[in-house]
Order: sequence, then C-alpha cells, then structure tokens
Amino acid sequence: MPLGDGTRAVHAGLPEAVPGQPFLPGPVLGAPYHLDPVAGPLPGVDGYGRTDNRTYRALESAIGELEGGECVVFSSGMAAVTAVLLTTLRSGDTVIVPQDGYYLTRAFAGEHLPDRGVTVATARTAGPYPSFDGVRLLLLETPSNPGLDICDVAGLAAAVHERGGLVAVDNTTPTPLGQRPLDLGADFSVASGTKALTGHSDLLMGYVCTRDPELAATIRTWRNRTGAIPGPFEAWLAHRSLGTLDLRLTRQAANAAAVTELLAGHPAVRSVRWPGRPQDPAYGLARRQMRRIPGVVTFTLADKAAVDRFFAASELIFAATSFGGLHTSADRRAQWGDDTPEGLVRFSCGVEDTADLVADLRQALDAARI
Ligand SMILES: *Cc1c(COP(=O)(O)O)cnc(C)c1O
Repeated sequence: MPLGDGTRAVHAGLPEAVPGQPFLPGPVLGAPYHLDPVAGPLPGVDGYGRTDNRTYRALESAIGELEGGECVVFSSGMAAVTAVLLTTLRSGDTVIVPQDGYYLTRAFAGEHLPDRGVTVATARTAGPYPSFDGVRLLLLETPSNPGLDICDVAGLAAAVHERGGLVAVDNTTPTPLGQRPLDLGADFSVASGTKALTGHSDLLMGYVCTRDPELAATIRTWRNRTGAIPGPFEAWLAHRSLGTLDLRLTRQAANAAAVTELLAGHPAVRSVRWPGRPQDPAYGLARRQMRRIPGVVTFTLADKAAVDRFFAASELIFAATSFGGLHTSADRRAQWGDDTPEGLVRFSCGVEDTADLVADLRQALDAARI
C-alpha cells in the first residue's frame, strides 16, 4: 500500500537510523571542508560549500521524493524560477508566462529576456492560450497567485510537447502534497519554498524538480556557477518544517472551507475565489488535477478604505505579504503594483482554530462594510 501524505512528509529525506545519531542531523555549516592533503579533491567527498553540502542534499532528497523527481534547491523561489528561464531560453526562442501569476516572474521576463533575443508572450491561466508553434517554454502557475485560477497541466503539456517545447509549472501555492506537476507531464516543477512548503514565515527557499537527468544537471551547474544556494541553516529549518506539511495543509484547507463559506454569504464581499468551493469556476479541474486544495482564498471588498477598516477591526489576521504560514495573514495585492482591483485581498489561512478565525473574520468584515 502506498504511504499516506503524513507518513511521507515525516520521513522524506531522513538518513538511515543510526544509534546515537539524531533523526535529522543538524546543519553542516562549512564553507571549505578538510581536503585529503595528498590526494586533494576526491569524488563523493565534500570539498566546498557552494557545490557540496550534505544538509541541502538531504532537503533535496526530501522534496524530490514528494515531487517525484530530482530536486535542486535554491536560495529563493525567484532564484529557482530564473534558473529555469535562463537555462532553457536562447536568442530566437519564445516563452509564454502567466498574465495573472506571480508578478515578479512576469517582471523579470519583461525586463531581462527581450534583451537576450527571447520573445515574451503572456496568457491568462484559465486561457485562452495562443498557438504553441515555436514556443520553447510554457511557464504555468496553477492555481495562479493571487487569482486562484487553474489550468489543465496534462492537456497543455501534451500540446506543447507535440511542438517540441518544454513546460514548467510553478507549484508554490499547492506544494507537492497538493499537486504533482511531473506526474501531469510537466518537465519542471519549480516553486518558492518560502510559502506553505516550509510554512513558518521564517526563511526563503526555492527549488526546481525534473525527471530529465540532463535538465537536472544543467540546472545544478547553473546554481553552482551563479551561487544561488540556500544557506545550510535555512535548508535544515526547511527540512525540519516538512514533517508537519500534511498537518498544516489539512488545517489550512479546513479553515479555508469555513472562511469561504462566510465570505460567500457576507454583504461586504463582492467576489470570492477558492478552488475547493463547488460554485467556483475552477472547482471541476481542481478536483481532477489536484490532490488537495490549498488554504489560500482571494476575495474583493469595495475599495482600499474597506480593506483598511477590515484590518483595523481584526485581532487575529496579520497584514503581510507571502502566504502559506502558520499565522493567518492577508495582503491587499494592489499595493504591490499587482494588476488587481484596489479591494482585492489574498487571504492565507493559518492553523488557528477554525471557530476563532471565523469569528474574527466575521467582525472584521462587518466593520469593512460600514
Ligand atoms: C513567492 C512566490 C515566488 C517567489 O518566491 P521567493 O521565495 O519569494 O523568491 C514565485 N512564485 C510564486 C507563485 C510565489 O508565490
């Protein structure tokens, strides 16, 4: 019988049990390590921290197990996303990036790829998609951040592969327990581990997973040359945090279900998106494609003033960007230059008790309405 998510999350990437040793060894903080003074560098023996570190190798084996591919960890999600873009795209190539996805990915593509001779096109996550003729890379983000739209990864991957292109999926919002892009046919699963994957709002992390050994080797060499490695302490914290991923996602999704119900019936709320809600346009596709629905809900209040009143009245909801953490937080996306309505809020459910969260949200929404 295949192991359940809780079991996989707790055991992922742990070394063999050795009496007297910890379950998860602590961070190895070396920059250089001792060399054999006579033989010098030896294969399989760590020599220098930019290329060799057993703490982040353990994290890579953990995330790789959960994603179902070889994992290369990076210092942040953006370091991982840009590694995929810059290693796959050459002058003359075309890339499609999400029009409604994480805004810095689109900003990076627009600022740095045209100068390198790469044509940058955009598509909304829910479609329509342009022709894939001549497309070298299709970068998807599903569910999209912050709109929570969903696309059919398997269908799009088949269409792109038919024309010789590659497909990458930004898997930040679902995490590998929520969705396995490589199983759906994507060439890369790329993500920020800063969000729900590690979930404690205390570190930045990114990764790229792939099943193609050549692509993996290229990504690893890119990281070694650019030096975008995570610090060993962050890698260790991230690995330690993975053990509770199943528990955190379960509570966050339960909170999101209750929160969505309240939002959908509240007069202060103009619109609400959560792919786990049967009335949501993305519900059917989410059920087919995803293993579980994340605890992030997006809703719209009247305007900025309504969001200001909402925050002033809430006692439990932190104003913060990022999402997926233990603490419920909310972010008015327009303040970051995201092309969203002034009153749009990305609401990230934490692991608080559902009744407490719903009670606090209700009174904050009541205050927003005045
Ligand atoms: C946050 C985020 C990123 C960037 O990750 P960092 O760790 O902040 O660099 C990329 N994609 C998505 C969908 C994100 O939410």
